[in-house]
Amino acid sequence: MEEIILVKVGEIVLKGLNRHTFEDVLLKNLRNRLSLAGRFQIKIAQSTIYIKPMEDNADMEQATEIVGKTFGIATFSRACVAQKDMDDIKAKTIDYLSEELEDVSTFKVEAKRADKRFPLTSPQICADLGGFISAKFPHLKVDVRNPQLTVTVEVRDFGAYVRGGVIHGAGGIPVGTGGKAVILISGGIDSPVAAYMMAKRGIELTAVHFASPPYTSERAEDKVYRLLETVSRYSGRLNMYTVPFTEIQEQIKEKCPEELFTIIMRRFMMNISQRIAQQKECAALITGESLGQVASQTIHAIACTDEACSMPVFRPLIGMDKDEIVVISRKIGTFDTSIEPFEDCCTVFTPKHPRTRPVLKYVKQAEEILDIDGMIDRAMGSLKLTKIGYGKKS
Ligand code: ATP
Ligand code: MG
Repeated sequence: MEEIILVKVGEIVLKGLNRHTFEDVLLKNLRNRLSLAGRFQIKIAQSTIYIKPMEDNADMEQATEIVGKTFGIATFSRACVAQKDMDDIKAKTIDYLSEELEDVSTFKVEAKRADKRFPLTSPQICADLGGFISAKFPHLKVDVRNPQLTVTVEVRDFGAYVRGGVIHGAGGIPVGTGGKAVILISGGIDSPVAAYMMAKRGIELTAVHFASPPYTSERAEDKVYRLLETVSRYSGRLNMYTVPFTEIQEQIKEKCPEELFTIIMRRFMMNISQRIAQQKECAALITGESLGQVASQTIHAIACTDEACSMPVFRPLIGMDKDEIVVISRKIGTFDTSIEPFEDCCTVFTPKHPRTRPVLKYVKQAEEILDIDGMIDRAMGSLKLTKIGYGKKS
């Protein structure tokens, strides 16, 4: 039996004149991603995308998973292809949906007849197929208001399709329609969730990670790599730049007041991330900060951190509780990796009593002793690039 995936596009139909751009980007994203699952034909007609396998070993399970994680899709379903003929539609429906029909007690049929040459009208298709299903499955009752299963028949110019229930898509808008931004990624729970949330709003990501060997290990970096691999199933491929942060952290530790360590370190992170963003044509920074979660995330601390860069900083988790963030982290599959116990550069030198109300003037005075530009130049000169989302580490 020939099977295809039918996709209903999401919010993008609301975008009026930009609709075609949005659809083009979504189609391009689907083409790129689905190439991992085999050869597929992908076309769009009247806000429905048709994804058809073009070779025997095209993997429909993998394709379904990929479609389910592509932003810009409201709902989708797998459907079987039938001839434009009621006998074939009936036979295929029973064949294709028998398990689902066994499992429910109420159903209805919906029909969409786009090909007006088809001899039956939509209500006639519903009555004919509905009667046939009822006769085959006597336990079933028709419920047009609230059926457990809706069997949908679409008769299009290029074929007829029968499908059962629909699957919720990832929502959002297609990655690449919202511009580019740098995500500051740690090995924690929050930043991978922040990355996911901004990709969902159409942003193409570039990741920056600060590592302080030998205080932080290879395994901590590998953890970040694996987190981004998981995020990339949603965001698409991305580049990660690892910044050597050891000298900067050691110098702050040695020369600045202990209680300002974290805030000064975070200012360096923003400054360096902004420079990378500018080089890579990104227009904003993204962090996983949540107000009041730790000392460096008070309103005063965030004001001091923000002053170190001029780009907009997106903090999609700012008003969320930890347990709400954890729910998303579990849903997208990053949680189990995030809680692995590898030391992060933030925890290595954490002061005992960080300042929760830092004053910018004093923070800047404390920084004066540091060779800020020299250290940043050296760090920027030794960035390491890792490509994410290509299936294997490169
Ligand atoms: P996370 O769970 O994302 O690690 P957190 O609650 O531990 O966040 P912090 O450690 O204060 O909070 O970090 C705040 C934000 O700063 C992170 O969400 C991330 O965006 C960024 N960040 C922290 N450490 C790093 C790092 N080593 N490299 C890049 N960005 C970092
Ligand atoms: Mg952290």
